[in-house]
Amino acid sequence: MDPAVPPSPSPPAADGLPTATVVLKPKRARPFFGRHPWVLDSAIARLDGDPAAGDVVDLATHEGRFVARGLFNPHSRLRVRLYAFDPAQPLDGALWEGRIAAAVALRRRLGLDATDGAVRLVNSEGDDLSGLVVDRYGDWLCVQVTALAMAARLETLSGILGTLAPARGILLRGAERGLAGLEGLHLPDRVVRGQAPDGPVFVREGNLRYGIDLAAGQKTGFYIDQRDNRHAAARHAPGKRVLDMFCYSGGFALTAAAAGASAVLAVDSSAKATALAAANARLNGLATVAVETADAFERLADLAGSGERYGMVVLDPPKFARSRATVADALRAYHRINRLAVDLLEPGGTLVTCSCSGAVGRDEFLTMLAGVAQQARRSIQLLEVRGAAPDHPVSASCLDGEYLTCVIARVP
Ligand code: SAH
Repeated sequence: MDPAVPPSPSPPAADGLPTATVVLKPKRARPFFGRHPWVLDSAIARLDGDPAAGDVVDLATHEGRFVARGLFNPHSRLRVRLYAFDPAQPLDGALWEGRIAAAVALRRRLGLDATDGAVRLVNSEGDDLSGLVVDRYGDWLCVQVTALAMAARLETLSGILGTLAPARGILLRGAERGLAGLEGLHLPDRVVRGQAPDGPVFVREGNLRYGIDLAAGQKTGFYIDQRDNRHAAARHAPGKRVLDMFCYSGGFALTAAAAGASAVLAVDSSAKATALAAANARLNGLATVAVETADAFERLADLAGSGERYGMVVLDPPKFARSRATVADALRAYHRINRLAVDLLEPGGTLVTCSCSGAVGRDEFLTMLAGVAQQARRSIQLLEVRGAAPDHPVSASCLDGEYLTCVIARVP
């Protein structure tokens, strides 16, 4: 070989076809026949072959029967992610393109294809693309990759995105979700295609505009998942004093103000968040919104102690439970803030209370509210128990993707 020519990285065996078979332990195949896409190392008996990281592998029962086809990660407990359940289906460019096209078409059907909007275009398992999340913010796409195999295919995937969802730039943002399987993978934020915005990006949600800092914002910059919940909550806001705790860039506060709340107080412990919320209130000419930087637990207690009362209180805290191990502590924290919020509500007021802890089940969250009702000696009348907006679909085979609960309740 000419020594001047660097060896090219070895391409996947045949495009999208398996290099090895991952054999399950006896009696461990049932979830995968049920299309659950995550094969943990603890379910695996052995490897037939020597797959490299990111390679296509077949999953087989202990008796050798084909179950599914997936991508291999030797560095993660989540050893194989499954993408096809038909032995004739290669995991090739055509498959990724078809899946991304279906995801984009779904958002179009939902009416979420405005080019100045914020929308989740691809939602990992919910779009049969485990490990890939893509958000559109106006002219920019933000990609989060939580699977090594998706990281290895980033060029292909961003090429497909560039065609199906044209944008001025595609930005790779750090992964933040749980069982990521990114061990051994260093993925710094970078511009994958096109250019980065040179300032805040402005998006429209309903009649409101928001500035988003794509370089430093939380998540991929904006809480898109709460879009419909902000509007559902705002129906209860006209004429009311509203408190928006954990406001981040002010979504619930601004939507309530625009719906006719008499006064809105938006609070967050992060000065960057409150600066964003204040800027967004100004951008929309919403003079009824006041913004404060404070700790929610302390501020709720101060307000309750000083006899303040509100017609609506919104609680949208960060994830209190990162795993099952911390659920009990998380439920105590949810109880504490919800108890204080109920104390702040005038009779007949509206409580909007959220959990984005996937580890806390919806039933557990509602049971926590029953505990609050008992202690506060007030009824809590559940009006709506909502999840994330429909551009965040959840696979029925992978309910781990369901993390958001937003309860809208009346407190007589
Ligand atoms: N409701 C927002 C999203 C909230 S995200 C929206 O619709 O866009 C959760 C927010 O809680 C983050 O902005 C974080 O800065 C804030 N936060 C975390 N801990 C806090 C605390 N102890 N007190 C107040 N805010 C806190």
